[in-house]
Amino acid sequence: MDVRDNLLDAIGDTPLIRLRRASEETGCTILGKAEFMNPGGSIKDRAAKFIVLDAEERGELQPGGIIVEGTAGNTGIGLAMVGRARGYRTVITIPDTQAQEKKDALRLLGAELHEVPAVPFKNPENYVHVAERLADELRASESASVLYADQWENLSNGDGHYRSTGPEIWRDTDGTVDAFCCAIGTGGTISGVGRYLKERNPGTVIALTDPMGSCMFNHFKHGELKAEGNSITEGIGQGRVTANIGSAPVDDAFQVTDAEMLDVLFPLLQEEGLCLGGSSGINVAGAIKLARQLGPGHTVVTVLCDFGQRYLSKLYNPAFLREKDLPVPNWLEA
Ligand code: PMP
Repeated sequence: MDVRDNLLDAIGDTPLIRLRRASEETGCTILGKAEFMNPGGSIKDRAAKFIVLDAEERGELQPGGIIVEGTAGNTGIGLAMVGRARGYRTVITIPDTQAQEKKDALRLLGAELHEVPAVPFKNPENYVHVAERLADELRASESASVLYADQWENLSNGDGHYRSTGPEIWRDTDGTVDAFCCAIGTGGTISGVGRYLKERNPGTVIALTDPMGSCMFNHFKHGELKAEGNSITEGIGQGRVTANIGSAPVDDAFQVTDAEMLDVLFPLLQEEGLCLGGSSGINVAGAIKLARQLGPGHTVVTVLCDFGQRYLSKLYNPAFLREKDLPVPNWLEA
């Protein structure tokens, strides 16, 4: 029998999918790790699992406890799901600009949702600070144990990728992976996968794929936290160096515009049947740039972070794209 004992055991071990057009156009083997196949529909199920398991092991989270987190949605979905599976309450703050589909999923999974205005990190009303304050208030008012998950500073996030995503990529490519690239939200993925792959083969190239409006490209290229433009993508882009980003071994960085992202994302659905979120499009567009720089014959792995249905009201909505001055493909109008 091949049976997973519980929901947590069904997180991870996702397949690598060869991306046909990207591989043909570059002469490389470009592989997407299908993180949308996780039970909560995104790569952030992994962060949720390892953050909760580590907190249990440290005794910070005890039966009947409460998990508190600020999230663009996917980490919250993972935490709420893991919380249900292990008997914890989940309290989530989310910027009100995030896709309705993610908020609906959070409520369905039983998260107590606090929607807050989308304001910069330096504003005390930013969703991250509101979550931390809520955790403090709950600690004072409830007898249950309270975990502030803190995916940015909590190294269980990156370590989860070091212990799972990285080894899976090494195993499934028989150690032939030449380069890995992905975007940064918290930095957990790039840090954990990057550290693991570098340890196995120090020559592995680790590259950032950054949307416009994020400071990470300039941080890794020029050592300055500066950004230009903006992006419709969700869950990625960062303006500060979190603890997880601080431990990421990044060799190179590529900036990807929303137009470039859509140019890759729509054909992935139309020609290869892959229905993905915007960060996956940034990753694949960045993988193509990286592959062109490396030259033919290399194996480049990137991440297909989440499922596109989560963005029906945005990325896949002609009215939304027009409002953002982005091209609308004919088939989407139909
Ligand atoms: N893509 C999506 C859709 C996400 O929600 C996130 C996390 N916020 C990421 C990518 C980035 O992953 P990480 O936090 O590991 O940097």
